[in-house]
Amino acid sequence: MPLPIGPIDLRSDTVTKPSEAMRRAMVAAPVGDDVYREDPTVNRLQEMVADWLGKEAGLFVPSGTMSNQLCLRTLTRAGDEVIVQEDAHVLLYEGGSAAALSGLQLRSVPGELGFLSPEAVERTIRPKAEHFPRTGAVEMENTHNRCGGTVWPLEQMEAVAAVARAHGLGVHLDGARLWNAHMATGIPLRAYAATADSVSVCFSKGLGAPVGSLLAGSEEFVEEARNNRKRYGGAMRQAGIIAAGALYALENNLERLVEDHENAATLAGYLRQVPGLEIVHPVQTNILIVAVGGLGATAEQVVTALREQGVLCSLAAFDRVRFVTHMDVSADAVKAAGEMAARILPGLGSAAKT
Ligand SMILES: *Cc1c(COP(=O)(O)O)cnc(C)c1O
Repeated sequence: MPLPIGPIDLRSDTVTKPSEAMRRAMVAAPVGDDVYREDPTVNRLQEMVADWLGKEAGLFVPSGTMSNQLCLRTLTRAGDEVIVQEDAHVLLYEGGSAAALSGLQLRSVPGELGFLSPEAVERTIRPKAEHFPRTGAVEMENTHNRCGGTVWPLEQMEAVAAVARAHGLGVHLDGARLWNAHMATGIPLRAYAATADSVSVCFSKGLGAPVGSLLAGSEEFVEEARNNRKRYGGAMRQAGIIAAGALYALENNLERLVEDHENAATLAGYLRQVPGLEIVHPVQTNILIVAVGGLGATAEQVVTALREQGVLCSLAAFDRVRFVTHMDVSADAVKAAGEMAARILPGLGSAAKT
């Protein structure tokens, strides 16, 4: 029997809908033409987040992809190589845009839990010679999406950044979920951000805003990124309407991310009871990547079986599924999803074989 409370959507923390109060804040926001830099709400958001990140300036952009890509673009020049961990979002999930739009090649380096080691970065930097591409930048992602919301140890980020700086490279931090790292560890946002020249953060993930990301860096960096934003078609006009959603999210929904982390831990508890399921990475924030091969079923069969019972999760690989907790699923709903998974998944392998 399907769950009585309707679908429990654990596919992503992007599926949240703006609350009534957030919508009211958006309707009431003072606005202006942001290309003239006259939108007071955008200006307030940019100043506030840049300050939280300890950077001189911020720039509001439509998406995390645009934010990352503007940062990479601004840190490098065409033909450069950018060092990334092999499961990086910029490598896997941004449509090849670093190559298509900025003429960059991304050099992927293995790294446990989504982290680069300073030694691996050191080894990967190209010597200066006319055969080689120029290494232009190093990119880090915290929390790490594809590796299950894992949190980079700050010391490791500092060590990687030190190697990059010693070689004169730019450092970019994809902090789409830096909020989660901050809430999970208590480490200040600006301590993480200090490791990088440019930082990208998202408001439309766990924080529950409908649209928007922001990049931050030095005044000079952000001026150039602004110019690139225009080229990429990301300069918006009365964008205060959406920036207000982001401000509301920061002021009201940041602290509650710990609930998402608790809910992910609860869900992990249920899934660990199922023989044949393996949670691939330590559960530190709001993402679970689960290997299902031991059930004798494919990830697609698991996604389908759960969907039929009103629990939505997503396909992470042929043998892996992903669950993400967020503000639109309550602790009770997560428990119900966990109970359902624990009930139906053990029988799935034998059913799949018949
Ligand atoms: C979602 C995400 C992005 C990009 O966000 P969009 O707004 O979907 O373009 C970038 N980096 C990471 C780690 C993400 O999870």
